[in-house]
Amino acid sequence: MAAHRLRPGVCRLFAMGPELGSARRAYSAFQAFTEVLRLPSKQLTKLVFPLQELHGHFVPGSRPDLHLNIFHPSLEDIARAESFFTASARNRIEYLTAAVRLDHAPDLRHPEVCFIGRSNVGKSSLIKALFSLAPEVEVRVSKKPGHTKKINFYKVGKYFTLADMPGYGYRAPEDFVDMVETYLKERKNLMRTFLLVDSVLGIQKADNIAIEMCEEFALPYVMVLTKIDKSSKGHLLKQVLQIQKFVDTKTQGCFPQLFPVSAVTYSGIHLLRCFIADITGNLKTNGFQFS
Ligand code: GDP
Repeated sequence: MAAHRLRPGVCRLFAMGPELGSARRAYSAFQAFTEVLRLPSKQLTKLVFPLQELHGHFVPGSRPDLHLNIFHPSLEDIARAESFFTASARNRIEYLTAAVRLDHAPDLRHPEVCFIGRSNVGKSSLIKALFSLAPEVEVRVSKKPGHTKKINFYKVGKYFTLADMPGYGYRAPEDFVDMVETYLKERKNLMRTFLLVDSVLGIQKADNIAIEMCEEFALPYVMVLTKIDKSSKGHLLKQVLQIQKFVDTKTQGCFPQLFPVSAVTYSGIHLLRCFIADITGNLKTNGFQFS
């Protein structure tokens, strides 16, 4: 499906360092999958299946421990998934409301997914990237210390809702833990929790707050590794292997396959959209080997 020629402008972008401020805007050409499909296959793999691309750096057969294919949809499925994230008159994607307590949360019957992670892990950037085909959606950010921590809800057409949990730090305040804990324990339509870990730093003490909650309530959750454009390939490989080992040996409810992403390059974003569309029951892909 990939086109064989690379437009000269795109070629230059790939040669640039990902940290460059101007690359941030230029890379957004890849927010739409039609643009990604124009890439030559090697670059397409890197953008769509970053874990597979990383795995290619090992001696064949030497590192079977990365689970690459538990969810491996076709490019056609990934293209179909995009329609759920594209705003149109028939598919309204919008910010719904904020809640400080679970009983303030909207009472919806749609399946829900939630995103949780440490402050600064890249959660709002990731949600913005997922919603980049719905530019009207205003992703709410409340970072000022002392501001009330809220859960922000977004509605994705008639398909699902996305709950953005407040960022936390080490020694999260009690009322914050209570709110998140109650939400995770009692939200009936919660289908999957996406737990964000900074791929530069690896799993931090503060991440254990969310991991322990998910494990205690036996929630199905998924580890998303953010900011993968920031590290050298060697550092990223090391972190990914460490996190994979943690997931394999220390967790019960975590989906075995990791989801590395970059909100700057859009690497992994299309696969994540497809995964969400699938697990919320909206898109039946043949991507699952087992789940
Ligand atoms: P939040 O507190 O979890 O919502 O984190 P933000 O989304 O605000 O991101 C925190 C910082 O990390 C900001 O300076 C972002 O620009 C940066 N950031 C977020 N995602 C990425 C990414 O994928 N790549 C890079 N290079 N920087 C990122």
